[in-house]
Amino acid sequence: MRFSFIAIAALTFLGPVSAQQTVIFTNTTIIDGTGRAPQTHMALIVKDGHILNVTRGKIVVPPGAIQVDMTGKYIMPSIIDCHSHVGNLKGTTTSGDNYTPANVRQQLLRFQNFGVGAILSMGTEQPVGVGLRDSSKAGWINGATMYSAIYGFGVKGAMPPESMGMTHIYRPETPEEAIRMVDELAPLHPDVVKMWVDDFYGQFRKDQVMKPEIYKAIIKEAHAHGIRVAAHLYHLSDAHELVEAGLDIMAHSIRDAEIDDALIAEMKAKHVSYIPTLSLDEFAFAYEDDPEWLKDPRFKASLEPGVYEMITSAAYKDKISKSPVTPQEKAALPTALKNLLKLYRAGILIALGTDAGASPIRAQGFSEHMEMQLMVKAGLTPMEAIRIATYNGALLLQIDKERGTLEPGKKADFLVLDKDPLQDIRNTLSISQVWKDGAKVSDGPLSPNLGYGRSDGPVTPPFIAAALHP
Ligand SMILES: [Zn+2]
Repeated sequence: MRFSFIAIAALTFLGPVSAQQTVIFTNTTIIDGTGRAPQTHMALIVKDGHILNVTRGKIVVPPGAIQVDMTGKYIMPSIIDCHSHVGNLKGTTTSGDNYTPANVRQQLLRFQNFGVGAILSMGTEQPVGVGLRDSSKAGWINGATMYSAIYGFGVKGAMPPESMGMTHIYRPETPEEAIRMVDELAPLHPDVVKMWVDDFYGQFRKDQVMKPEIYKAIIKEAHAHGIRVAAHLYHLSDAHELVEAGLDIMAHSIRDAEIDDALIAEMKAKHVSYIPTLSLDEFAFAYEDDPEWLKDPRFKASLEPGVYEMITSAAYKDKISKSPVTPQEKAALPTALKNLLKLYRAGILIALGTDAGASPIRAQGFSEHMEMQLMVKAGLTPMEAIRIATYNGALLLQIDKERGTLEPGKKADFLVLDKDPLQDIRNTLSISQVWKDGAKVSDGPLSPNLGYGRSDGPVTPPFIAAALHP
């Protein structure tokens, strides 16, 4: 039997498609996430939720397959955000009381509208979040796939502040207590263990920062369970001690000083990875002026109701300009940019993270794109920023067999862009379609039809969690 070549010119593809259906995207430019040069006039063939092939030339379309003309479009893998938060934001408030299944789901859908296919939520879950994380990873609920550190480790009366919704945090006072708490957390299978080692812009005393004997116990016990450890940090001196103690992931930039070659060499030898969260530093002071992206409707769409009015008010600008930490925050960003470039050039694994969702001013969805723009500002090429935002995130989360690039056998998780992101990195925001597991799930940042294309499933009760992680 001979299949005929069916050319359907400019087919407008609007309806939902089942993941089982074969879909062929023709005449598109593929940016595959590996960092290799863009490939033009390509066909991307998707079947059973996975990529069957990425090829050039004449395509034989099997009967029943759907062909979508992608002339002038760019396809890149879905973004992976390795440092974010969900559930605690509602309106202009940040609180553990806001953390409900409905709120978490809504925010996973918001991430997805911006092409974010997976997030690592860094240790600010409430108990209901365990089942949500498991259901999300199993593909039973819509939106970005949620990975999580579940309950992070902090310090009593200090980091992370309870006033920022960080109410369900382990705060050990002795190494023995830290070990017991890691042992309690481990059966829930956190994707990483998260801890905070910082004075929060000097707002806590040095003796309120997590002590080395505590984080050493956390790292050792987490490693005994086969779990990697990520740290919120800020200072170069803490970074030195943490790497010495066996830290696996720096979850923020080092921002008080330029990183030294000795630490870079030790990070390299110990395979420590680095998540710069540059947009966090930008958002800390950006609203004092009127940045050009402020009026972008896509930025507004990434905020909770009321936040746009808050950050554009004269009172808020005044608060930033008078805040004693603003000068430090302004100095932090250039240092972070410098350190990123240095670590990238040294071959350290860099993954994209944003801290989006930790406070209302860190926009969920828009931040990930801002993050790529800031990487380019640091001196990376748009292609390097895109690789960091996709493949490197999959490497960090150890899900690179399934995700992160557009290659045969991987999940069909990708975004369709109207404009070339290699010409201008801001074009990663020109998203007209988002696909997940071989089904179209969103029309982009301004999409009203959140979660479209797939039916929503139940949330697993937490007791099923263990069964999902044999
Ligand atoms: Zn965070």
